[in-house]
Amino acid sequence: MPGQPHVAYRDGELFVDDARLGLLAKEHGTPLFVYSKASMLAALAAYQRGFTGRKVQICYAMKANSSLGVLQVFARAGCGFDIVSGGELERVLAAGAVPAKIIFSGVGKTRTEMRRALEVGIGCFNVESEPELEVLNEVATSMGKRAPVSIRVNPNVDPKTHPYISTGLKGSKFGIAHERTLGTYQRASGLAGLQVVGIDCHIGSQITQEEPYLDAVDRMLDLVEVIEGAGIPIHHIDFGGGLGINYNGDQPPQADQLWTRLLSRLDARGFGQRQLMIEPGRSLVGNAGVCLTEVLYLKPGEQKNFCIVDAAMNDLPRPAMYQAYHQIVPVIPRSDTPTTWEVVGPVCESGDWIGHDRELGVQPGDVLAVLSAGAYCMSMASNYNSRGRAAEVLVDGAKVHVIRQRETIQDQLLRESLIK
Ligand SMILES: *Cc1c(COP(=O)(O)O)cnc(C)c1O
Repeated sequence: MPGQPHVAYRDGELFVDDARLGLLAKEHGTPLFVYSKASMLAALAAYQRGFTGRKVQICYAMKANSSLGVLQVFARAGCGFDIVSGGELERVLAAGAVPAKIIFSGVGKTRTEMRRALEVGIGCFNVESEPELEVLNEVATSMGKRAPVSIRVNPNVDPKTHPYISTGLKGSKFGIAHERTLGTYQRASGLAGLQVVGIDCHIGSQITQEEPYLDAVDRMLDLVEVIEGAGIPIHHIDFGGGLGINYNGDQPPQADQLWTRLLSRLDARGFGQRQLMIEPGRSLVGNAGVCLTEVLYLKPGEQKNFCIVDAAMNDLPRPAMYQAYHQIVPVIPRSDTPTTWEVVGPVCESGDWIGHDRELGVQPGDVLAVLSAGAYCMSMASNYNSRGRAAEVLVDGAKVHVIRQRETIQDQLLRESLIK
């Protein structure tokens, strides 16, 4: 399929690599997430190509998809990780991550999370406010340690994406304002429990243009010059993540081409041999996954025709949250004349839709594939309507690994109790 070479029709049937999706749906039930390991590794390789001959640490932003089997693929490939909670820290350690390659982002780190991260020896805290700096210093000092820190700056550039996933504009809760950066670095370098190691930014997600990145790079380098001019060395520069993927004909820059351009900007300003870091999430996993769902009922109507499927907003939250578009295609196309359908889930909310106005020739019992479902789907899935979360399989060449069993009602009730 466009933008996702690992998902393709062969002899009238949809495959992920060598796995026949109709068969997977039968064996494992639906809704079912199916991921291609080869696709993840190809996306990672595109970044690595862009950085040939440079010092770079790629930190997979694991909130995009934090399933253990997915994390393991990246850990084995030598990736670092960008985490945003203590839960993510424990998950990624369980998947075999090297602590020194973990960086910790997020505006609301708790003392407990800081302590645990210091205990295991993560590589860097991406600090997002001045009060956080003080608390981190306190926690590290009490443990007799020095916390490696980078300060997340808000470069005030418009990533031209959905407002909910824009993070680098003035008025965003993320990062420290451009004007406050030097003062914050001076404060950090004066605190005994901290060791300044870097600078970082992250301007947003699903970015499909190069300009916002180029602007952010320039603004970051301006800041590095100012901070180093004040006698505070910056060991690494972290440009965050945010590169978009092709959901519906979107044409984001290719990772290798984007980095070639960005690196020439760095070279021109004398920063080409710096230690660099990036934090891609969606672009490593988004197009590696599909969600299989069965058509339960067709409900033609006067104004709209509804195609009711067994996946819902609790499995695929992006349409309801961001009005996002996912392509929906039949696993085994029929020759019937297509009809226009509202593809919706069983959840009791009008916001529970998967796709509007889709041309599909379908019958109850057919399996549909919701494409580009590798990022921000399972990691955002919930139990709303007491629905168990879907199962997940990872296709690895000819092998299919179940990386998550379907959640049962017993799993859901485990931590609850009746009043006494
Ligand atoms: C979410 C996030 C990322 C990854 O963003 P993508 O759009 O998935 O690449 C990177 N860094 C930080 C700090 C984030 O919060």
